[in-house]
Amino acid sequence: MAEQLTSDTIVDVIADIFERRGADSYLGEDVTMSEHMLQAAQCAEQAGASEDMVAAALLHDIGHYTGEFPVDTLEKGMNNYHDETGAAILQKFFPALVVDCVRYHVAAKRYLCATRDDYFGRLSDASVHSLNLQGGPMDDDEVAEFEKNSNLDSIVNIRLWDDEGKVAGIETPSFADYTPLLRRVIQSHSDATAA
Ligand code: FE
Repeated sequence: MAEQLTSDTIVDVIADIFERRGADSYLGEDVTMSEHMLQAAQCAEQAGASEDMVAAALLHDIGHYTGEFPVDTLEKGMNNYHDETGAAILQKFFPALVVDCVRYHVAAKRYLCATRDDYFGRLSDASVHSLNLQGGPMDDDEVAEFEKNSNLDSIVNIRLWDDEGKVAGIETPSFADYTPLLRRVIQSHSDATAA
C-alpha cells in the first residue's frame, strides 16, 4: 500500500481508513479507534501544541491499520509493532518530529513508567496489559538511550495525550475537520525538503 501513496493522496487514504475502520474497538478501551485518535488530537490542540504535534497525536495509532496483523492482535497476547508500521507509512510525507512521535509513543510509555513515579497509576488496564508485552518499564541503559532523542519532550507529550484520549462520550472535531491541517503539515514538509 505504501508504495502507491503520494503526498496528494495520503490524506484521502487516511480519511478513508478513519471512515471504514474508525469504529473498530481500541484494544479493550472504552472508546473506538477514531474516538481515541481524535481525542488525542484535541488534547494537543487544547494544550496549544503546534500543527505538527496535532498531526502526530491524530495519527499516532495509524499503524494499527497498516500492519499485516489484525487490530485485535495485541489483545491476544502478541506485540503487533503498530508504532513501527505507522512511522514507516508516515515518514515519506511528514516531518521527522511527527514520525518520531509515532515511532516512539509505545517506547515512551516504557520510559515514563521507569522515570515518573505517578505515571503507572494513570494507565488504563489495557495499557498495563500491553506494557508487559512491550517489554515492561525501561531499564537504566534504555532510559539513557531514549533520552538522546532530540524530540524527547514532544514524544512524551504525545504519549500523555495518548493516555488521556480514552474517555467515553467526549465531543471532538471530526477527522474531516483536521484534513486542512494535515495538508498544511505535509505541504510545508515537502516545501522544506525541496528547498
Ligand atoms: Fe493510542
